[in-house]
Amino acid sequence: MTGRAVVIGAGIGGMLAAAALAPAVGDVVVVEPDALADGPHQRKGLPQGQHAHLLMAGGLDAMRSLLPGLDVRRYLLDAGAVEVSLASGLLARTPDGWFSRFRHDSHHLLTCTRALLDWAVRAAVLSRLSNVKIVQGKALGLVGTAQRVQGVRVATDAGEDLLRADLVVDAGGRGSRIVHWLADLGIDGIQEKVVDTGLTNATRIYRRPAVVTDWPLTLLQADPYRGEPGRSGMILPIEPDDGGERWMVSLAGTKGGEPPADPAGFLAYTFDALADPVIGELISHAEPLTDVVRTRGRMTRNVRRYFEQSAKWPEGLAVVGDALATFNPAYGQGMSVAAQQAVTLRDAFDRADVTTPGLARGIQRAVAEHVDGPWTTAVSQDVLYPFVTGAAPTVADRVAARYARRVAATATVSYPVARALWDVTGLRAGPARLMSPGTLLKVLLGPPAPLNTEIPLKPRERRTHRELRCVLQE
Ligand SMILES: Cc1cc2nc3c(=O)[nH]c(=O)nc-3n(C[C@H](O)[C@H](O)[C@H](O)COP(=O)(O)OP(=O)(O)OC[C@H]3O[C@@H](n4cnc5c(N)ncnc54)[C@H](O)[C@@H]3O)c2cc1C
Repeated sequence: MTGRAVVIGAGIGGMLAAAALAPAVGDVVVVEPDALADGPHQRKGLPQGQHAHLLMAGGLDAMRSLLPGLDVRRYLLDAGAVEVSLASGLLARTPDGWFSRFRHDSHHLLTCTRALLDWAVRAAVLSRLSNVKIVQGKALGLVGTAQRVQGVRVATDAGEDLLRADLVVDAGGRGSRIVHWLADLGIDGIQEKVVDTGLTNATRIYRRPAVVTDWPLTLLQADPYRGEPGRSGMILPIEPDDGGERWMVSLAGTKGGEPPADPAGFLAYTFDALADPVIGELISHAEPLTDVVRTRGRMTRNVRRYFEQSAKWPEGLAVVGDALATFNPAYGQGMSVAAQQAVTLRDAFDRADVTTPGLARGIQRAVAEHVDGPWTTAVSQDVLYPFVTGAAPTVADRVAARYARRVAATATVSYPVARALWDVTGLRAGPARLMSPGTLLKVLLGPPAPLNTEIPLKPRERRTHRELRCVLQE
């Protein structure tokens, strides 16, 4: 193995890209401005890490494939992550009713703080792949020409440095300057699409109340069908700390329905703005461990850059993760898409090496394909909210939305349809899975049982819930 790859950014996308490249090149240098602690600590370069992050099954599958020999699921569970079965371990209220608690232990996702996930993935990559190293520094621009990128200019404590590379992978996240860096090389006119609902997330971590021994991930979904701002809320079990079990509570509202940042307003939103009071009833009794943190600026926009359509593309450059496309976080897709792109990056070296002409162009086209499905999932719903910018619903969107609503409503009481839906939302299948003949027929026939209007609690949860409501009424 010869050649060197430089990866910009040591987030999930960057570290998994490094894992993908390690078997194919002599050494992989990851450039990251943050000083990276050996532990699960929130850091400046990942402001989104203060908010809820779900790792979908498709993302976990990709991580497994990139870290052979490591049982990634077990490793993350041992680190403190919590596994949730969508079929039985989820309390989810859709616009048309609650999901049943099916008698199946299937379709899992992992929850934990983003800080834990980031640190665990970074530690796994660095400990298993000896030719990957991280250099502290900030990428300033590309070195090379419109025909070939040859390295990265980096600002370090010691001054400006030049890191030569046969392949540069930009995984610098949503703030990446790659479009400007390409323009500096003479490649401009990269098309960009932005669809923005003006979503704001407000998040606070709580100690789980002592009276609650166990509580499922609780999700009150936004309703895109009423022509009003979307308002949603979630209680997410995350890794415990020394004091015990913790919940991350995340509220979200599209423009006109934003959750407030003050503690009293945060709590009031759970009662006044959400479709069910259960989140408020639970957190009224929970000790807050942090302030309320809100997303700022344009963090939650859907942004897609069409690098793969550029007339010119240099050898030696690929763009992945949020630097390529970001999605409204309500759909929990970004990390899993970045992981799947890393698998594609690895596979590109099956019949090529870093010197193969056209390799970078081929990689860029292939990684962009992972954007299509998640982009459709996010944007086809987002266009329905009022005040959305960047797109307006077409007739086709409205037809698709009616079908999507019928899928979700049927899924709440039909396990086969729920499986199809979770395959898509879990990024194990593209949206076409919802149009397979079997699913299509079941959806057209409609819900096979009455929709669930009552929250589907198990007996012990019901007792806890009743107890908490009594205390609240006193
Ligand atoms: C509120 C919110 C909630 C979300 N929830 C979910 C969820 O539930 N599930 C999910 O899958 N996704 C979620 N996402 C999306 C997820 O955070 C991103 O998709 C994911 O982090 C993308 O990984 P990345 O490696 O491309 O970028 P990032 O994780 O953002 O990493 C970028 C890295 O690049 C570094 N960097 C920046 N500039 C430079 C530079 N000039 N030189 C070198 N390094 C640089 C940064 O310090 C950082 O370490 C959420 C996003 C938001 C905003």
